[in-house]
Amino acid sequence: MANDSGQKVVLITGCSSGIGLRIAVTLARDEKKRYHVIATMRDLKKKDKLVEAAGDSYGKTLMLLPLDVCSDESVKQCFGHVKDRHIDILINNAGVGLMGPVESISIEEMKQVFETNFFGVVRMMKEVMPDMKKRRSGHIVVVSSVMGLQGVVFNDVYTASKFAMEGFCESMAVQLMKFNVRLSMIEPGPVHTEFETKMMENVAKMEYPGVDPDTVRYFKDVYLPSAIDVFEAMGQTPEDIAKCIKKVIESSSPRFRNLTNSLYTPIVALKYADETGGLSVNTFYNLLFNFGPLMHITMSILKCLTCSCLRRRTISPD
Ligand code: NAD
Repeated sequence: MANDSGQKVVLITGCSSGIGLRIAVTLARDEKKRYHVIATMRDLKKKDKLVEAAGDSYGKTLMLLPLDVCSDESVKQCFGHVKDRHIDILINNAGVGLMGPVESISIEEMKQVFETNFFGVVRMMKEVMPDMKKRRSGHIVVVSSVMGLQGVVFNDVYTASKFAMEGFCESMAVQLMKFNVRLSMIEPGPVHTEFETKMMENVAKMEYPGVDPDTVRYFKDVYLPSAIDVFEAMGQTPEDIAKCIKKVIESSSPRFRNLTNSLYTPIVALKYADETGGLSVNTFYNLLFNFGPLMHITMSILKCLTCSCLRRRTISPD
């Protein structure tokens, strides 16, 4: 499974920033030059940060193509530029966030999140699957989220889009295995990227039409400060996630699910420990509404404990 020069061809979506940019650079700068990276983004005018970070590898092991995962036309055009349409590894990274009381979010905005986070991935997989299945070889990686496994209050629609993708991929993995095509989900917790900045900017602009004052207060005064605490205490870097993805694609038996932050393992385990769902719903309720101050103190302690040297140890899988 490689191109003429023995390199694996890797196509990555959403490479103008954050995790996508970092995976593209990490693979393109691989010491043994094992990868030919096709880094894609909607608007090539936003390529500068990637090109700068790629250094010498740009034009050698890294090339750029425009790609909007929400457009059939754009996806077709992009694959038209890929030699023999041969992709060894597809990394579905492009995604958008959405946070806030559901009453203030239009159905159109919700559909846009699903269009990117769910149908964008499906569109890409449909494009690479026929060739991978024919060659009985390939690896599809999907950047999901811890929120694809556990619902989080006021992230209802984003969570739903990631759950949808988890369900789709869990089903697809079985069929693909028959064709020796691997499928791996990457499930990060909070990661410090523009994602977080963009969501906070959107929240600042929100006017909450149709939302009762109590809900607005719970969102702004209870949820948001606690979300910021969690990001500061538990947030990983895009480099952490890129390293984790590299390990997954280089593993001889890649795992289907890959939580990148082991601090989240107990949280995800809650829902499997009680099939009625009561344990996880009550725990999250208490954490937010009853133990808010305690949670703030816990997060502050965790922030001190997970200084950068310790945080590196939380990258899984090993
Ligand atoms: P980011 O905003 O820096 O990167 C997302 C990228 O996707 C951007 O470059 C954006 O331009 C691109 N994108 C959006 N819509 C697109 C489209 N229609 N076509 C092509 N590209 C498009 O944020 P990030 O944190 O690097 O996010 C990458 C992935 O990680 C997303 O799927 C996100 O859901 C997931 N994730 C992020 C976090 C986090 O806390 N940052 C946590 C868990 C999962």
